[in-house]
Amino acid sequence: MSTYNWLEAINVTEDMLDKTDKRLPVIWISALDCTGCKEAFTRSFEPTTLDTILNFISLEYSELLSVASGYQAEEHKESIFAKYQGEYVLAVEGGIPGSDEFLMIAGKSVRDEISEAAKNAKAVIAFGSCSAWGGIPAAGVNPTNAVDIRAVLPEDVPVALVPGCPPIPEVIIGTLLHVHFHGELPELDKKLRPKAFYQKTVHMTCHRKAFFDQKLFAESYDDEGARKGYCLFKLGCKGPTAFNACESIGYDRCIAAGFSCIGCSEKGFWDKGGFCGKRKSK
Ligand code: SF4
Ligand code: SF4
Repeated sequence: MSTYNWLEAINVTEDMLDKTDKRLPVIWISALDCTGCKEAFTRSFEPTTLDTILNFISLEYSELLSVASGYQAEEHKESIFAKYQGEYVLAVEGGIPGSDEFLMIAGKSVRDEISEAAKNAKAVIAFGSCSAWGGIPAAGVNPTNAVDIRAVLPEDVPVALVPGCPPIPEVIIGTLLHVHFHGELPELDKKLRPKAFYQKTVHMTCHRKAFFDQKLFAESYDDEGARKGYCLFKLGCKGPTAFNACESIGYDRCIAAGFSCIGCSEKGFWDKGGFCGKRKSK
């Protein structure tokens, strides 16, 4: 059962809900992505994605979610750029390819598209660890020379990073809604992440922390300790070093499902062996 209150998280009062008549235009551009971040966007409970789209934001363009496609979708995107200069949010998902040859959209370089769209955006939000840090496309030998979004943004554009693989749905929606209700990005930490969601490690609010404190650990995923819900630290849980709101928002994510945190919101998580970090027993 979650105690998350989205109004509190982004400092919105009930009165403000009634005073919003204009939805925030959002253009969502995908670079080197797997669509997981967009899918997370569709799964928010608090508020629901449906409420968000019907009442607060207007998702004007997304290669995956737009009803239109091809020329129709591209023409609409251009019309939004022209009509809402300085008013739209540019959402970017996926790592940025090192050169144009690795990704073109509608015959245009995605690198140029993002940097051009950013110039007239009210704010840019990088959704997911791929756009925030380079993520999976930049892991290992990095065949596309993928980089993070800041490599292609103009210097003075306001930008927030919302890492996670994918990010938490309520964090995606919460960050967008902060811009809608307050007209600006939420307060960010030194790494440009919204403080409201990335101030604490997963460990600090984990529902298994009482077991950690008592040194009660699962030694394997199918032992008695795992069945009793003991702490997963010895199975490589990255919760102590992962800054994210998975456990504080609490809609049954990885740790509740019985799997250790892989630290997907942290830079380079894939190369750090998030999936196979079993710690040795002493
Ligand atoms: S951050 Fe994860 S979920 Fe999002 S596009 Fe990258 S790989 Fe997919
Ligand atoms: S399961 Fe992970 S995050 Fe939770 S208490 Fe144990 S080490 Fe910390």
